[in-house]
Amino acid sequence: MRAGEPGHAVPPRVAGPWPHRFETLAVHAGQEPDPATGAVVVPIHPASTFAQDGVGQLRAGFDYARSGNPTRAALETSLAALEGGRAGLAFASGLAAEDALLRAACRPGDHVLIPGDAYGGTYRLFDRVLATWGLRYTPVDLSDLAAVRAALLPGRTRLIWCETPTNPLLSIADIAALAELAHGAGALLAVDNTFASPYLQRPLALGADAVVHSTTKYLGGHSDVVGGAVIVNDPELAERIRFVQNATGAVPGPFDAWLVLRGVKTLPVRMDRHNANAAVIAAMLADHQDVLEVRYPGLPGHPGHALAARQMSGFGGMVSFRPRGGAAVAAEVCARTRLFTLAESLGGVESLIEVPGRMTHASVAGSPLAVPDDLVRLSVGIEAAEDLVEDLRQALEEAIKVAADG
Ligand SMILES: *Cc1c(COP(=O)(O)O)cnc(C)c1O
Repeated sequence: MRAGEPGHAVPPRVAGPWPHRFETLAVHAGQEPDPATGAVVVPIHPASTFAQDGVGQLRAGFDYARSGNPTRAALETSLAALEGGRAGLAFASGLAAEDALLRAACRPGDHVLIPGDAYGGTYRLFDRVLATWGLRYTPVDLSDLAAVRAALLPGRTRLIWCETPTNPLLSIADIAALAELAHGAGALLAVDNTFASPYLQRPLALGADAVVHSTTKYLGGHSDVVGGAVIVNDPELAERIRFVQNATGAVPGPFDAWLVLRGVKTLPVRMDRHNANAAVIAAMLADHQDVLEVRYPGLPGHPGHALAARQMSGFGGMVSFRPRGGAAVAAEVCARTRLFTLAESLGGVESLIEVPGRMTHASVAGSPLAVPDDLVRLSVGIEAAEDLVEDLRQALEEAIKVAADG
């Protein structure tokens, strides 16, 4: 079989520079019609191995599918384009992507700064896996630049791990300022961009060295795939991550890669609706007498509002709040919504509700990163905003009534 004949593998495309706007890249980058057949959708290539034209003579750059697969290569090109990076690497989950990046960028004995309110699974990776491998970490409030400066150990701190907005507290960190601090101390800045998605925030352009995603969330967008990615500019760092990706093998299968590719095409239109719906929900909660606190970077009272307005092009679809009455009322609210489904995860078209202290962030209970036990986290979907507002309002009012009666 020669190039151009049916079944010919799509060659991996050299990433960037990217002349088009984001919405165009979301549909086209890495997703040109298949040169062999003209199929307008990237094919799912299930092959685990690829015929060679002679020993070591690879026809289209592929030999064995752990090392590279055409469907995955298309996704990696797409994600690199969306983040404005030179290289994208796809993984079997967000945590697999984080693990590969950290083992590529750090050595045992190195020190890293992590957010005082990181995603629970990220904290667990540092605390229970990488700490035993010899990586030391210090949690620090990344929105406090003086605290970050004080926590950096010049010569020893290898990396600052940043999440902004954070999961689930939605605090905002200044990516450009953190990049400057990190580089001044000879360290790298990695940003978990899962909550914002590249549509709303592009950390590499702000000076970050690496971007990480759980593609399970907004990039996939339909709650039907688990995946992760790392995007970087430095070819040498890319090469080291690619080595770990192949050497440890936490790669996504071709169907998973294809599902994320399909999700990416509609990311801009989905995010516009997530943003709009979350703003309506946050405003309703902020005005509600039975709500003590709302965390949403789009609210003018949020401490990171001005910064978010500067470094993001929208405030995202995640909203957290604390109802009056404590943890019991928080659990009651979750039990009483009909449209918001009680479930972990986020970023899908359907609205979800959960109590992080007992669900997604149970792994940080009792640690310095513990979250308030009465916090309710919403992943606001793309349904009609009025229906979501009504659903949440009735659940909140019923929960308060039950608490008062009980
Ligand atoms: C879900 C999530 C992760 C982990 O991703 P998985 O795909 O579940 O492994 C990492 N960071 C953030 C902010 C997340 O929300």
